[in-house]
Amino acid sequence: MVATRPRVTSARPSWLALCAREPRLLDLLEEIRALPTADPHYCAIGAWFGTPRTDDGIKARMVRLVGWHAARPDAVLRTDRAYRAAYRVLYDAVPPCRDCLCRSIQRAIFGAEATP
Ligand SMILES: [Zn+2]
Repeated sequence: MVATRPRVTSARPSWLALCAREPRLLDLLEEIRALPTADPHYCAIGAWFGTPRTDDGIKARMVRLVGWHAARPDAVLRTDRAYRAAYRVLYDAVPPCRDCLCRSIQRAIFGAEATP
């Protein structure tokens, strides 16, 4: 008798494959695409990480959908590969800061030429 090995793959699941398993990831992407808000001091870091008091950033909500702490008991969603794939798509979609505090700090440290 030949023992069956568990299927091990290092392949990163595609964004579409993840969304098929967890459609709420698309809701997050839609939310990101609606950024920046009308706030003239919109901050990408604030949008992604949220505020320390509310923990309402996009990342915190993504973590509930994909990765080790995903709420859905799905073997593909609950992997670090799925987390990294979703992180890359969502984080890369976040528009850059406007006139926020971190831009001011960046200019103060690196000079005006450091900011796009
Ligand atoms: Zn910022």
